[in-house]
Amino acid sequence: MTVSRIQLTDGGPEFSRLVAGVWRLGEWGMDTRGLLNFIHGCLDLGITTFDNADIYGGYTCEGLFGAALAAEPGLRDRLELVTKCGIQLVTGNRPGNRVHHYDTGRDHIIAAAENSLSQLQTDRLDLLLIHRPDPLLDADEVAEAFGTLWAAGKVRHFGVSNFLPWQFDLLQSRLDFPLVTNQIELSALHLAPLHDGTLDQAQRLRVPPMVWSPLAGGRLFDAHDERAGRVRAVLEGVGRELGGAAVDQVALAWLLRHPARLLPVLGSGRVERIHAAAMAEGLRLDRQQWFAVWEASAGREVP
Ligand code: NAP
Repeated sequence: MTVSRIQLTDGGPEFSRLVAGVWRLGEWGMDTRGLLNFIHGCLDLGITTFDNADIYGGYTCEGLFGAALAAEPGLRDRLELVTKCGIQLVTGNRPGNRVHHYDTGRDHIIAAAENSLSQLQTDRLDLLLIHRPDPLLDADEVAEAFGTLWAAGKVRHFGVSNFLPWQFDLLQSRLDFPLVTNQIELSALHLAPLHDGTLDQAQRLRVPPMVWSPLAGGRLFDAHDERAGRVRAVLEGVGRELGGAAVDQVALAWLLRHPARLLPVLGSGRVERIHAAAMAEGLRLDRQQWFAVWEASAGREVP
């Protein structure tokens, strides 16, 4: 059993439908060998796309991932690398940062992408995302930075993350190629993009969104969270109707059911959980099952 593949826009990259996210890599306590085992566990399931960001682990996760790539020549060509830039953290690794801020200026985007290439020990990024909308974002400058990185062969495709539709439209208006994704937060416990125009825009433009925290960052399993408990009970019921699927699998299938063609970015570092997640593609919720989950989360019926 392997997960399917999906092309993000005409001429865009081909990714695995489920993506492995490494935000929490620093918490997994893996050495390079352990990380290689995890990467191979994903590849064996057809999960070839790995989501990173310059800031993950306080600017350390890309370096850990890069060490694994360097330890196994040939591995780089078997996977797709996504990373992000634009957030500036106040940390010892960035002594010049006095305040937590965003920088989507031309020079910062280029420098950040080049630093990601060096941390990941690779010569190209498959996809670079602007991590968050920046109130000082100058769309012309971002377009110039993207053009420079693309012409140098350093970044193949570009996208955004956490953008609202009009922010996406602004940047797109300055580009002569399509942004290939908007990576957004969405889960059975975070419904906003279903109703704020984000997914309508994605469907209109045929730009499949990547979805972060698809299991609400683990909150779905929190025994003390009342809303999560309500949603979990419905997911369990739907799981039984679907022949014994687990809560995480139904929660992912609930996302995969959306016509905007979402790519959930998984956050677990455990291969057995990634394996279970991969089986979610085989589950299809009917409309009433889908709305029962929505209703449990929203705490009300649809109008
Ligand atoms: P998630 O899959 O919603 O949450 C992962 C957490 O849930 C982990 O702590 C995991 O623990 C736990 N979990 C998973 N399955 C479980 C189960 N069956 N039972 C109990 N706990 C379970 O995803 P996420 O980590 O929040 O986010 C996924 C990825 O999205 C990140 O790695 C990152 O790449 C990306 N991201 C992007 C942004 C952005 O702004 N663009 C923001 C946040 C994250 P175990 O590790 O123990 O399995």
